[in-house]
Amino acid sequence: MNLNKLIFTENACYKAGRKIKVKGIMVHSTGANNPYLKRYVGPDDGKLGKNRYNNHWNQPMDRQVCVHGFIGKLQDGTIATYQTLPWDHRGWHAGGAANNTHTSFEICEDGLSDRSYFDKVYKEATELCAYLCELYHLNPLADGVIIGHYEGHQRGIASNHGDPRHWFSKFEKSMDTFRQDVKRLMGGGVLDPKLPKSEGILYRVRKSWQDKKSQIGAYKVLANAKRKADENSGYFVFDESGNAIYPEKAAAEHSTYTIVSGDSLWRIAARLLGDGRRYPEIKKLNGLTSDIIHAGQKLKIPKAAVSSALKVGDMVKVTASRYATGETVPEWVKERTHKVSQIEKDKVLLGWPDGIASWLPIDGVKKI
Ligand SMILES: [Zn+2]
Repeated sequence: MNLNKLIFTENACYKAGRKIKVKGIMVHSTGANNPYLKRYVGPDDGKLGKNRYNNHWNQPMDRQVCVHGFIGKLQDGTIATYQTLPWDHRGWHAGGAANNTHTSFEICEDGLSDRSYFDKVYKEATELCAYLCELYHLNPLADGVIIGHYEGHQRGIASNHGDPRHWFSKFEKSMDTFRQDVKRLMGGGVLDPKLPKSEGILYRVRKSWQDKKSQIGAYKVLANAKRKADENSGYFVFDESGNAIYPEKAAAEHSTYTIVSGDSLWRIAARLLGDGRRYPEIKKLNGLTSDIIHAGQKLKIPKAAVSSALKVGDMVKVTASRYATGETVPEWVKERTHKVSQIEKDKVLLGWPDGIASWLPIDGVKKI
């Protein structure tokens, strides 16, 4: 899935600002022969291309209409998904009660005879639904969870439209095959590996937290992880946040960190000490006279401070102006507090599964 984000902050639906508890996903297709995303999504971000008529949906409109995402062609002809509302925003897509329960997206129709385009957007749509089912813990095969607009009408929760059946049926597909394909995707473990799995706490045995390849085991039971570390010298047990918790000597006055490509002292301090501004403490402990560091170099990290480092579960405010993906962070995101759901080397995932579910640069959040 090629997931991009361009929230329709100028659409009245976004401004209405209502939230829903996402219980399902409604699949739409546009009913108009124009496969290009720029018809609906704008302004041009460099990939969409320019909409000459300026009739995209990210502006005040005379119709009350807005969906959570679109699938279609970028300017260069490749297929992409654009998220256009927070998934749990109340959309205006169904013309009925499904607006209160279902997140939604439109697949941009073409002339309905190009199988190659259909196959690509159908696949993209199954991947988007698998992603959303993971995000909201939905069972894709459960009754009423993933439905086409026409099925919403049959259920009395949407207006009388035939999408996307009229298109799917031309290529031997239906909402039934679609749900099965989403289920297959989810069962096959082919989802974006960046998505956190909803498993319990795992104790990982590695040489260092950053050296993921050194991992020789991950255990639900701490005692088993400790045994594995005992059997292999130079290995430590790490908790979910990357703190070495065993053997005890790992909890001595400092820990060791191996610099990887892309690191800076600021980022290391943000990651391990919880605040980038504390980088002089690392410089001092290591006797560094300049800020220049090199991949592979080992650094001592003040241990007393590690407990205050950013951890999964911490509440933070966003200070960055851009997401890790480069998109602009809207004001309402900065105004709220968010829960840290996952931490990687230089970025943090906020608000998963409830909330914005977006990656921010690790030095772009502030613990509160
Ligand atoms: Zn529809």
